[in-house]
Amino acid sequence: MKYRHIFGPVPSRRLGFSLGIDLVPLKTCTFNCIYCECGETTDLTVERKNYVPLKEVLKELEDYLEKKPQLDYITFSGSGEPTLHAGIGEVVDFIKDNYPGYRLCLLTNSALLNNEAVRAQIKRVDLIIPSLDAATENTFQQINRPDLSIKCEQVIEGLIKLRHEYSGEIWLEIFIVPGLNDTSEELVTLKKAIGKIKPDLVQVGTLDRPGAEEWVEPADQSKMEEIASFLKKAEPIGKFEPGQKLSAYKSTGSSQILHTLKRRPCTAEDLYMLLNLRPVEIQKNLNRLLARGIIESEQKERGLFFKIKKGPEDYY
Ligand code: SF4
Repeated sequence: MKYRHIFGPVPSRRLGFSLGIDLVPLKTCTFNCIYCECGETTDLTVERKNYVPLKEVLKELEDYLEKKPQLDYITFSGSGEPTLHAGIGEVVDFIKDNYPGYRLCLLTNSALLNNEAVRAQIKRVDLIIPSLDAATENTFQQINRPDLSIKCEQVIEGLIKLRHEYSGEIWLEIFIVPGLNDTSEELVTLKKAIGKIKPDLVQVGTLDRPGAEEWVEPADQSKMEEIASFLKKAEPIGKFEPGQKLSAYKSTGSSQILHTLKRRPCTAEDLYMLLNLRPVEIQKNLNRLLARGIIESEQKERGLFFKIKKGPEDYY
């Protein structure tokens, strides 16, 4: 069966071996973050609806999970904000009722957590990783560029309500953008908000793949450690656990693709099978490399192949 809504499993830095569920089309989100690795949001919305057919998602999950694969997590993530799908609760219930041995994780930007129906639908998830990049309205708007109806205060309120009602783990994620949310003033305000949200863990991350805006730079490691220590209970993410199959994370999507194409020409589908990248990331990076004249494509019987145009040593 060809899967359209589930992907992987991929080795994840934080979650081990994780099967992804993508409930919205690229790129449907309540935010348009400057660092988004899926690129610009094309459908900026707060409307909850069945963006992809629920039946298809459940059928794919059934087909995959019937084989009893070994997974550390099944994770709602992908091409946008998963809680925008009005049927997310049905997917959660389907997995929990039929495959109770699997742990569920939700990656969310927190925008809709202030909605009671959303919180009710996700209460059976084992781990929620919500993000909060700023606690001041101005910086929140600059980094996350949300739908006009979303305000920072509501997002924080939603997180506080989630903590009160939800008994699973909450790992709050903060994405550091140097020059925007790494100042003392911003961090002090964030720390106060974290004190009210009371997550089980705080993780700070920074850019490690190409983002939506080329000018966004990663924060350096010492700054990340300083921020993590200031926020207490926090740890920098982006470090790799020994023993995990994570060599792919050591480099950006483009360089992973170049290293692979150096060995042999591949189709986009081959790259998806070989690399720890989602199809959208592969396509985005292939387009960039083609536009820069670093790779070229050739139509063959099995599909469109990509290969290095010049000596790959020129590029990495
Ligand atoms: S980073 Fe997440 S929340 Fe931000 S635009 Fe991308 S998908 Fe949406």
